[in-house]
Amino acid sequence: MSSSGPHSDPFGSTDPYGPYGSPRPRRSLLRRPLTVALAALVPGALLGWLAYEALGGSGGGGDGAAGGVAGSGPTPSVLSSPAEGATGTDGDARPTTGAGTGDSLEGKVVVIDPGHNLTNSQHTADINRKVDIGTNWKECDTTGTSTNSGYSEAKFTLDVAHRLRALLERQGATVKLTQDGDRPFGPCVDERARIGNAAHADAVVSIHADGSAEGNRGFHVILPGAVHEGAADTRAIVAPSKDLGKLIADDFALSTGSSPSNYVGDGTGLVTREDLGGLNLSTVPKVFIECGNMRDTKDAALLTSGAWRQKAAQGLSEGIVSFLHG
Ligand code: ZN
Repeated sequence: MSSSGPHSDPFGSTDPYGPYGSPRPRRSLLRRPLTVALAALVPGALLGWLAYEALGGSGGGGDGAAGGVAGSGPTPSVLSSPAEGATGTDGDARPTTGAGTGDSLEGKVVVIDPGHNLTNSQHTADINRKVDIGTNWKECDTTGTSTNSGYSEAKFTLDVAHRLRALLERQGATVKLTQDGDRPFGPCVDERARIGNAAHADAVVSIHADGSAEGNRGFHVILPGAVHEGAADTRAIVAPSKDLGKLIADDFALSTGSSPSNYVGDGTGLVTREDLGGLNLSTVPKVFIECGNMRDTKDAALLTSGAWRQKAAQGLSEGIVSFLHG
């Protein structure tokens, strides 16, 4: 029943959440008193869904986004609250300040790393300079990719970063961006890592979109592999970063309806790499996410949609918040 959710065609043109709506977070919803949920919503479909959840719904077929990502169940799209859009919290169950509740992210630091830079392409000499990432030397930064119609990855990453920052700050977190369109190029990948380290970030997410072949679709989260060479020592962050990455992959799939990558990660949406300076030099939990493939026509239609980017930010926020709440 409930399993006939909105994800049977996760990349289809239908928008299960409406133009600006975001699915209310499953966890938050279930934390709320049942009476609140009943008063607010009700219909039979909801009651059926709640009963399904209460009975430990298996989260079986129908949710194409689930593939290998842990913990997914039927997405409660019937519970969407378009009016509240992107709060991403159970804010209606607590004071507006967020203070004095266990849910506040006060004191938590999140660093968001918008991949690339809008004007990197005008500074090729600077971004081609090699920097030491511990395991080897790599270019300071790259221009990133774009859709076939010219929507740049840098524009995408900064937009999602802004949306994500708003969601996290609304919940009390301290948020820092590695770049905010406020510098001519970069920062270099080593500096991007150092910004997270210096902030003593509780979590860092580097936002990207891929530039792969047409037909290659879906998102993947990149986890740091264990490296210990030169200035790189990720051994302490491998496990917490994996936890962070799994939570993000789960919530990103639920929020966006996108499936895990069909071309890397064997359907898990998770890929471990040991060649990225931004991960190798991090001393705090950090992951990258490739939100989709800009060079695929169908993925590009999602990535260029502001409504979809809001869902992406929502999914990222929910994964990060889950991680921060432990
Ligand atoms: Zn990128």
